[in-house]
Amino acid sequence: MITNIRSLLHEQNYRLTQERKALLGLFSHANKARTPIQLHQAALGAGVGIGLTTVYRMLEVLTKIGLVSPFLLDGAVYYTYCTHSHHHHFICLDCHRVNDLFDCQQELSTPDGCVVEYHKLDLFGTCATFTRERFGEFN
Ligand SMILES: [Zn+2]
Ligand SMILES: [Zn+2]
Ligand SMILES: [Zn+2]
Repeated sequence: MITNIRSLLHEQNYRLTQERKALLGLFSHANKARTPIQLHQAALGAGVGIGLTTVYRMLEVLTKIGLVSPFLLDGAVYYTYCTHSHHHHFICLDCHRVNDLFDCQQELSTPDGCVVEYHKLDLFGTCATFTRERFGEFN
């Protein structure tokens, strides 16, 4: 996986240094959407010594090659790491956990004469964990 990403990044003239690789590893294993600042803090917490600018730059490049999806939540941009296969997301508004949804059955009617090239669909709500905690289902 990393090898594939490396060649994609190479096409963007982006070199995967040890620190950037560590950041990518950290990011790709998280199942939560994060802001650049949160990601930077997580990196520092894991002993990856990178600057916030590096985080921003990496997110920019990864978004460009389609390995990252940005979301707007409460007026802030959150990012989640993505696979290349077509999928949708369910994003929890409370804990920001992201679930990938691979079934695609969306049928929307488009205006006459318009040709759809691709679509994006993300669902926002509360995840089961949060719902359980809030309503005390297991108490
Ligand atoms: Zn995704
Ligand atoms: Zn949640
Ligand atoms: Zn779809």
